[in-house]
Amino acid sequence: MTSQTGSAPQAEIGVIGGSGFYSFLEDVTELTVETPYGPPSDSLFLGEVAGRRVAFLPRHGRKHHLPPHRVNYRANLWALRSAGVRQVLGPCAVGGLRPEYGPGTLVVPDQLVDRTKSRVQTYYDGEALSDGSVPNVVHLTFADPYCGAGRTAALAAARGRGWEPVDGGTMVVVEGPRFSTRAESRWHAAQGWSVVGMTGHPEAVLARELALCYTSIALVTDLDAGAETGEGVSHEEVLEVFAQNVGRLREVLFDVVAGLPVERECGCAGALDGMDPGIALP
Ligand SMILES: [Zn+2]
Repeated sequence: MTSQTGSAPQAEIGVIGGSGFYSFLEDVTELTVETPYGPPSDSLFLGEVAGRRVAFLPRHGRKHHLPPHRVNYRANLWALRSAGVRQVLGPCAVGGLRPEYGPGTLVVPDQLVDRTKSRVQTYYDGEALSDGSVPNVVHLTFADPYCGAGRTAALAAARGRGWEPVDGGTMVVVEGPRFSTRAESRWHAAQGWSVVGMTGHPEAVLARELALCYTSIALVTDLDAGAETGEGVSHEEVLEVFAQNVGRLREVLFDVVAGLPVERECGCAGALDGMDPGIALP
């Protein structure tokens, strides 16, 4: 592995790996990126998959030292865009809110519900950056939080590997780091929501604010408290199921990367069209 510092465009696709998914690429260059929002979770690890240049970023840091509510999501997305990334894949571990979504289920959600509490979820807050530029207040469309083209590629890749994915559904994102109570979990399920996670927000909205494509790929590691009858989920259980599935998830992600469009026609690139963000995107 070689190291370098800088911000020249070096990748086109970003993968933000979740729990138990620290290494994605074998032959990598480590790139340290500075951002106006502080350091990202870790260096970017640059490599190639199917002829596409990929930047992998361990969401919680390579030593898993950052809990979901302390991840610097703004720095992470900014760093990826600085490296040239325009399409982002966000694999993550989630709990199933329905009995039929047991461990090992792969969900490609099409909606999310934000139940986080403490996270900065916008770049456009009127606070001056260190270069003196001041972001304007902008209100972006977020009715469909995920990239349509990315979802299509994810579903095709999973099917191609014989892992029939759940096409669509709502991911509710909770603050954590604790898991839900049974009452919370039953309430989430009663809303018709599918899975519960801790990192899908504000990752998705910050990607949209930087005109990036973002696709969530959720691996169910456990049934959430309201959908199971035992003692409730433990962190060990989550890591164990993730470890069992990380190999095939990696294969699916390789195929998603290969299947992402070279030219974006999905509309994500135009998320800021007609608006003046007040700051220069990297
Ligand atoms: Zn897109």
